Amino acid sequence: MPLPPAWLDDVRPSPYADQLALGFRLLRFSRPLEQEYRDYLRDDTFELKRIALVVGILVWLAFAGFDFVLISGPEVWWMLAIRLAVLLLLCVFGVLLIQAKHTHLLQPLTLVSLLALGAAASLVVGIAHRVDPSYPYEGLLLVCMAAYFLAGLRLLEALACSLLVLLVYIAVELFVAQLPSTRLINNALFLLFGNLMGAVGCYLLEFKSREHFLISRLMRVLADHDSLTGLHNRRSFNRHFERLWRQAQREKRCLGLLLCDIDHFKAYNDHYGHQAGDNVLHRVGSVLHEAARRPLDMAVRLGGEEFAVLLYDISDQEALQRAEALRLALQNLKIEHAGSKTASVLTMSIGVACIQPDQVDALAKLYEHADRALYEAKAFGRNQVVA
Ligand code: GH3
Ligand code: MG
Ligand code: MG
Repeated sequence: MPLPPAWLDDVRPSPYADQLALGFRLLRFSRPLEQEYRDYLRDDTFELKRIALVVGILVWLAFAGFDFVLISGPEVWWMLAIRLAVLLLLCVFGVLLIQAKHTHLLQPLTLVSLLALGAAASLVVGIAHRVDPSYPYEGLLLVCMAAYFLAGLRLLEALACSLLVLLVYIAVELFVAQLPSTRLINNALFLLFGNLMGAVGCYLLEFKSREHFLISRLMRVLADHDSLTGLHNRRSFNRHFERLWRQAQREKRCLGLLLCDIDHFKAYNDHYGHQAGDNVLHRVGSVLHEAARRPLDMAVRLGGEEFAVLLYDISDQEALQRAEALRLALQNLKIEHAGSKTASVLTMSIGVACIQPDQVDALAKLYEHADRALYEAKAFGRNQVVA
C-alpha cells in the first residue's frame, strides 16, 4: 500500500496504524481488529441489505412472469411453486430487516437467502431445460453478482456462496435436465468467468472498504487526541464528561474532577526554550495518563499547560489522595526548573472538586468548583492540592 510511513508514525501507537503498515492483501486483519471490522461492516451495509432485498424480490417476481411467457407445459407450475417458496423466505428476512432486531442473524440469513435463491434458480432453470433447452440460464449470474456487490458480504463469503450455487446448477443440469454435455460445459464456463470478474471486483471493493475502516478510525483518534501528549483533547473530554455525567446520575455515583496547571511554565519556556517546554508537556502527559488508569477515568489536555483528570465513582477523600499522588509523581520526576519561584523542580497546582450528579446545574458547578480550588492553590503558593 503506498502510504507514507511518516504519516503513520505520527499516529502511533495505534493498532489501526500498525495494521495499515502491515498491510492486508489477504483481506484479514489481526484478531481484535478483524472482529471490529466485521461489526462495522454489518452496521455499515445494513441499508444496502434492505435495498438488495427489495431489488431481489422485484427481479424474482419479474422472472416468474417470464416463466409464464416462455414455458407453457405443466412444468411452469413446479417452477412457480419453487419461486413462491423462496419468496416466502425472502419476506421473512425482510421482516427481520425492517424490525432491525436480531442483527447477529443478519449475515447468516443473508447467506442462506442467497443460497436459497441460487439453488431455486438452478432448479427452475433445470426444470425449464427439460422442455426447452434454450430457456435463459444467465439469470443465475445475477444471484452471484448480488452476493459480490449488493449483500454486504466479505469476498470469502460471496465466493463460497457463488461457487456453491454454480455446483448446484451443474448438478441440476446433469441429473434433472440431462442437458447435453457441450451445452452444459458452455453454460458452466460462462458462469465461472462471470464469477471470476465478480470476485476480482469484490476483492478490490473489500480492500478499499478495509482501508477506509482503518483510516476513518485513525482520523477519529487524531480528532479526539492531543498530538503533543497523546491525551484526550477538550472536545473528546466534553463528550465523555456528559456521557459519564448521565451514567453517574443513573447509578447515583460521584464524579471527581482534578484541574491541573503547571507552575511557572512561561518561565520554564523562557529559560529552557519552547522545544524543552514541549518535551516536558509530553512527560507530564504520561504522568496524567497513569493517573487515569481505570476504564471510565479520563486524562485530558485542556490546552497549553492545563490538564484535567475526570474520575468516576470516587469520594472527596479518594479524589484528594489521587490529586496529591499526582502532584508528587510530577515532583518526583525531578525536572529541573531554575526559573521557578516555587521549587527547584517542575511542579503543578491542582484544584479538586467532587459532586453528586443529582444536584441542579451540577455539571457546570463541578468545573466551577475545581477551577476555584485551582485558583486558590495558585494563590496559596502553588505546588499544592486544594479541594
Ligand atoms: P502559573 O504558575 O501562574 O500557572 O504561571 P504560568 O507561567 O505557568 O502560566 P501562564 O498562563 O502565564 O503561562 C502559560 C505558558 O504556557 C505560556 C505559554 O508559553 C506556555 N505554553 C502553552 N502551550 C504551550 C505548548 O504547547 N508548548 C510550550 N512549550 N509552551 C506552551
Ligand atoms: Mg495556565
Ligand atoms: Mg501554569
